[in-house]
Amino acid sequence: MLTRRAFILTTFTGALAACVTPAPPPDPKESLRRARLARLTAKTPQPPPQSSSIPTREARIALTDAQWRERLTPQQFEILREGGTELAWTGRYLKNKKPGRYHCAACNNPLFEAEHKYNSRTGWPSFTRPIHPERVLTRPDLRHDLERTEIVCAHCDGHLGHVFEDGPEPIGLRYCVNSVSLFFRPR
Ligand SMILES: [Zn+2]
Repeated sequence: MLTRRAFILTTFTGALAACVTPAPPPDPKESLRRARLARLTAKTPQPPPQSSSIPTREARIALTDAQWRERLTPQQFEILREGGTELAWTGRYLKNKKPGRYHCAACNNPLFEAEHKYNSRTGWPSFTRPIHPERVLTRPDLRHDLERTEIVCAHCDGHLGHVFEDGPEPIGLRYCVNSVSLFFRPR
């Protein structure tokens, strides 16, 4: 298992400046128009498209890099599609304690419940579990000469962060997630 120091040093190596302006609250009537406008004009994160269907592995999104670049801000692309990491202590959801759900910022897949968020003191939003095991997939990550377990969105394959075995009891897991990979919808 990694030491916290090793983890922080590694993530700093590939870190990005991550101060972002929070997106405006989602408005169902305007969401599509805003999304189109945002892709043309803005570089601040926008809500992912609303979908009434529950994402499944069978309904995975497969877009080209060019299509993802149209949907995402440059920072979202670097983290969600290229496996980057936001700078510790800078994420916009790090201190968010409001009730609600955290969705994938790329595809709107509901990933984490606010009630499963906790203060891990690591500098990144942390959760004890996903909403459902099939919403978040894991795979080995051997980059930076470390053995880590990457977590990705099961719907769009977007990089979320990593899961570690130093979480609180009784589960003992820490889902360490980039704020950039998430979009919070308050309850
Ligand atoms: Zn996704």
